[in-house]
Amino acid sequence: MTLANGRTYLAIPGPSVVPDRVLQAMQRPAPNIYSADLTQLTASLIPDLKAVARTKHNATIFIANGHGVWEASLSNTLSRGDRILILATGRFCLGWGAMAERMGVETEIIDFGKRAPIDPARVAEALRADSAHSFKAVLAVHVDTSTSIKNDISALRAAMDETGHPALLMVDCIASLGCDRFEMDDWGVDVMITGSQKGLMTPPGAGFVFYNDKADRARENADLVTGYWDWRPRTDPDYVYEYFNGTAPTHQLFALREALTMLVHEEGVEAAWARHASLASAIWAAFERWGEGGPMELNVAEPSRRSHAVTAARIGAPHGTALREWTEKNAGITLGIGLGMAEPDDPAWHGFFRIGHMGHVNAQMVMGALGSIEAALTALQIPHGQSALDAAAQVLARG
Ligand SMILES: *Cc1c(COP(=O)(O)O)cnc(C)c1O
Repeated sequence: MTLANGRTYLAIPGPSVVPDRVLQAMQRPAPNIYSADLTQLTASLIPDLKAVARTKHNATIFIANGHGVWEASLSNTLSRGDRILILATGRFCLGWGAMAERMGVETEIIDFGKRAPIDPARVAEALRADSAHSFKAVLAVHVDTSTSIKNDISALRAAMDETGHPALLMVDCIASLGCDRFEMDDWGVDVMITGSQKGLMTPPGAGFVFYNDKADRARENADLVTGYWDWRPRTDPDYVYEYFNGTAPTHQLFALREALTMLVHEEGVEAAWARHASLASAIWAAFERWGEGGPMELNVAEPSRRSHAVTAARIGAPHGTALREWTEKNAGITLGIGLGMAEPDDPAWHGFFRIGHMGHVNAQMVMGALGSIEAALTALQIPHGQSALDAAAQVLARG
């Protein structure tokens, strides 16, 4: 007997739950890729993507996952031998930096560890020390999906501005866009990248690069720009074949159209941020109660620096893996593995897990996730504090 039969919840931090409406939008025959309809459909996505990114500048769509737009962002702004500054708060900015190294860019890393956000003062110090302005860009991740740290991008920009250093600010919002408040223009972000499969509720396979005029000026001299990754032909093209450098990702576009209708025109971006904030608060309330009587602990202590899209937890080996296996087998919910907290061959690796609560997620799903974790803690006899679900329900009751 298993209690897992029924609708399952893939609660990993991406790919996220795809709404039925978005899946249904893909259930149609292939369209003529030279038709005006497809051009219009693609054109209709651009203002909505800009609305989610809070920018009036340029939005481009690539047939790529997150790693693809990591490369696209670097290719359009940098040259071989350029130096960039990597601000690591978990695994993802390090991955972006490693991609840059493979492209022939030199990286300098400031690593803030796995439990603390970027310290803007340390970034300012590094930029002041670079009086020759050799750093061409500063790379940061808004929400690091491995640690669930949310960085204060506006404070980072302010610190960069204070130094007068001209480096571009490039931000990875793959985990956070549509979930955690992000203001590309107001916060002075020059390049922002995201993917389809997290807050944008669309299957993996589309990536997005947003860039302003300063970034486009860097594109003039970037010798890493290549035919396929060039963002210019993708901005305001005349027809869709040119836009995608070949055949359009037709069904991805149908899916994205439906998802953006839901996010931008029906719920509204700010309401979606508020929903994610309330759901995240309910999750934190439960974890705090569990932690009062056992090893459960949120990875990020300071609430304002916790993501609203993903939660990383520490529970000690082997409880993390045991708990994930229990919930998947017995409750139909798949939790995320701990990523980048320990090496996979280290027994400590089994002491972490994550919950993805990004995109198409509501109160009953979160309560189901928390109730399933509570059942796992009980079944596995992992010590834990009581009334976690009460605490979460109280948060949801406040709205
Ligand atoms: C998911 C994610 C990526 C990687 O995206 P892929 O589509 O797997 O290449 C990069 N950065 C962040 C912050 C992410 O959450």
